[in-house]
Amino acid sequence: MLPGVTASAIDRLATARAVLQEHYGHVGFRPLQGVIVGAIMAGKDVLAVLPTGGGKSICYQIPALLRPGFTIVVSPLIALMQDQVDSARRRGISAAMVSSAQSERDQEAVLTGVIGGEIKLLYAAPERLGRLAGQLRSLGLQPSLLAVDEAHCISEWGHEFRPAYRALGRARGQLGWPQTIGLTGSATVEVRSDIQGVLGLGRPRRGRGYPSAAYVGSFDRPNLRFRVQGVKHNAERLQRLLGALRQTPGSAIIYAPTRNLSESLSRILWHQGTRALPYHAGLTAARRTQTLVRFLDGNVRVVVATCAFGMGIDAPHVRLVAHWAPPSTIEAYYQEAGRAGRDGDRGDCLLLHHGADFGLRRRLLLTAFPPRDLVERAWRDPKVTARLPAGVRSAVERLRGELRPDRGHVDWSRIRKRRRLALERLRCMRRYAGTRRCRRRVLLEWFGEHVRACGGCDRCGNG
Ligand code: ADP
Ligand code: MG
Repeated sequence: MLPGVTASAIDRLATARAVLQEHYGHVGFRPLQGVIVGAIMAGKDVLAVLPTGGGKSICYQIPALLRPGFTIVVSPLIALMQDQVDSARRRGISAAMVSSAQSERDQEAVLTGVIGGEIKLLYAAPERLGRLAGQLRSLGLQPSLLAVDEAHCISEWGHEFRPAYRALGRARGQLGWPQTIGLTGSATVEVRSDIQGVLGLGRPRRGRGYPSAAYVGSFDRPNLRFRVQGVKHNAERLQRLLGALRQTPGSAIIYAPTRNLSESLSRILWHQGTRALPYHAGLTAARRTQTLVRFLDGNVRVVVATCAFGMGIDAPHVRLVAHWAPPSTIEAYYQEAGRAGRDGDRGDCLLLHHGADFGLRRRLLLTAFPPRDLVERAWRDPKVTARLPAGVRSAVERLRGELRPDRGHVDWSRIRKRRRLALERLRCMRRYAGTRRCRRRVLLEWFGEHVRACGGCDRCGNG
């Protein structure tokens, strides 16, 4: 036996493996999954950083199944929660979700299930967690584990900041300071320490504390091939796209920058005999779900999506992810491209770009962060606000809500820093598109990882 490895730890892992086979049908854990599950079962607070498709769900679901009581899972999107609840149920795991989008009656039914001990996994939106914590407390119920999925949303230095996530530390306290695990597929060192700080991982509180551990898996996905093509005009984009689809044997996701484009591209593809459907936030939830189901069944071959087709959607058999144009951050690109080849078979990632794409992205970004003096003038004078273009006006209001000038001193340094980081991410995206070096190297360097061997990109050959 290895030093420090106790018989009970080995027993626990054997049990975990049995659950893995029974409920998921997988023969073994992937690298780090077993280690993370072991650390959670040993009672540690854990930060797990694994790339998209790395298998994060299992890391908290298996410990949830192995311990008495229920686990709360915080997840950022209702569509995503629904997807996770459905797939847990298909695996014979009792799961449910509460969100403020449900009727009061449905929410009560879920709570009744929790009281009755029928629910192992309770999914909740971050906005709903505070209220849920109060309800559980008044019922005398405590979760045995709190799992925060897509935990990078906590950090304003990350690329998907969600203010509601910042309240999770307080909600953890309200829940009775349960053992907690944060999971993310995208985190720089700064974002990681932000997650640990906000969730209070490893920090004792009111006599309760858990030792903490962080695990960072490799972000390299050797089965992905990366390719970039510069184009002169939109007709060429379309040609390239059709060419890539012809060369792809299976399903594909095409990322389009706007809803309109998602609609028109899917229509063009459909007319050319490819079963393609749009997917964006302007469609009803029912339509989106229907499209997703048909895509997962193989009934629809191509989804032309905006970034709304995103976080956590688990489609294992995607062979190609093509981007009509670059997204504004390298993290978003890697996360979206990473939806190819989740089953471990080959996945192709194609990025199309035109010189003007980056200028447009930059302008959009500067709209989201207007100059300070303009914002301050607009705050003071509604006439100034009224004259602003809609995008700038909404940024002004967002900043007002966040910085609360009505309370006196405004701290601009955080906004300056966020803007600087956003510009840096865009620059890295541009570097990736224009590089003469290995694409994989440029991507992974962003995540602080050094690539030893490239499994395939158009710069190294084999792309
Ligand atoms: P993430 O949340 O990290 O993006 P998921 O938890 O959604 O990833 O899992 C991605 C895919 O990997 C899923 O299709 C899942 O079934 C599969 N998977 C996860 N763990 C294993 C394993 N140990 N063996 C085989 N497949 C696995
Ligand atoms: Mg996930």
